[in-house]
Amino acid sequence: MKVEGWSGERRSTRQIQVGGVAVGGGAPITVQSMTVTKTADVEGTLQQIYALAAAGCDIVRCTCNEPEAAVGLAQIVPRSPIPVIADIHHQYKMALAALEAGVHGLRLNPGNIRRPEHIKAVASECRDRAVPIRIGVNAGSLDPDLYERHGGATPEAMVESAQRELDYFAEVDFDLVKISVKASSVPLMVEAYRQLAEVTDHPLHLGVTEAGPPPAGLVKATAGIATLLMEGIGDTIRYSLTADPVEEARAGRQLLEALGLRERKNVDLIACPSCGRAEIDVIDVARRAMEAFGERQIPLQVAVMGCVVNGPGEAREADIGIAAGNKRGHLFVKGRNVAVVPEDEMVSSLVEWAEFIHEHGTDAAIARADTERAEREAARDRSQLLADKGDDANDASARIVEIGRRLDA
Ligand code: SF4
Repeated sequence: MKVEGWSGERRSTRQIQVGGVAVGGGAPITVQSMTVTKTADVEGTLQQIYALAAAGCDIVRCTCNEPEAAVGLAQIVPRSPIPVIADIHHQYKMALAALEAGVHGLRLNPGNIRRPEHIKAVASECRDRAVPIRIGVNAGSLDPDLYERHGGATPEAMVESAQRELDYFAEVDFDLVKISVKASSVPLMVEAYRQLAEVTDHPLHLGVTEAGPPPAGLVKATAGIATLLMEGIGDTIRYSLTADPVEEARAGRQLLEALGLRERKNVDLIACPSCGRAEIDVIDVARRAMEAFGERQIPLQVAVMGCVVNGPGEAREADIGIAAGNKRGHLFVKGRNVAVVPEDEMVSSLVEWAEFIHEHGTDAAIARADTERAEREAARDRSQLLADKGDDANDASARIVEIGRRLDA
């Protein structure tokens, strides 16, 4: 993608394999999420993993906090459609149990497992099995001696925590590593990742931890992750939302698609913000369209526009769109009117045309349409609307007279 001010260049990193998924070294940026079920609940966890994979999740993490969870992982891993990482916080023995269960990766928190012999025991086992580890530094659970020496959870302290873990790994000749330095503060995590990117070429896993519920959580996570991605930093991402994890996966996927970093998989729905000229409830139609497309894999841009006066022109780059006019929906393909449908069929027609374009292409869609008739009807509705409302939907002329009256008073 060529955009002024953004070369699209990415920081060059080593590549590791998490199961069959490559991370770093020029591989597509991946989306991660974490199950919220008890890992011992094998069927419940697998159900969630399938839902996550359908929403665009490439790699999933499950907690391995007790022996029952490790037993669960042994049954989950072979049936999971995507690689499974075990999240380990305090007990290094749970890491060894998860490896025995066949997981594709581990996440260790260096602030919680601190004894060098434990860290090295896990790293040696991972080396022998060629299983990667994420060093998951978290500002909220930093090693107390680093916290004290740096006077708090600073970017420098977080980077040092990661480096110290890397040194232990090097002692046992293990380097299948990716790293995260997450914080709930966006400026702190951005700075920590920037500093980390200067001192290592290991792939980086981006995230704003404990971002909270949407929409504020989505904004926070996007602010941190997108800032770094636009600087070329980051190889895999996770939204940490207080919400159904499917929302995390969907958000991650959508962010990568919006930045042009992953190929579009689902519909990109654009809609006008509506204004006084709107002939329909744009918010409602856009919501119904979003629901109708759901997780359908139709990688097209679809527009919902409030009026035929400006809609087709403003959304002329969309693959397919609908604009409202005189209680009817005007369908347009790449800005060209192709059909006029009753208002209550707007959403179903949009889906039907999108499916047709996805299957047969834009030219076939235009060829099957009576474009002349559609354009004639669109022109008629346009002039009708202009006659009704004038080209002054904001009543500007009346406002200008009023402004003048007040200034003169
Ligand atoms: S002019 Fe029409 S397309 Fe533009 S915002 Fe208003 S209703 Fe939507």
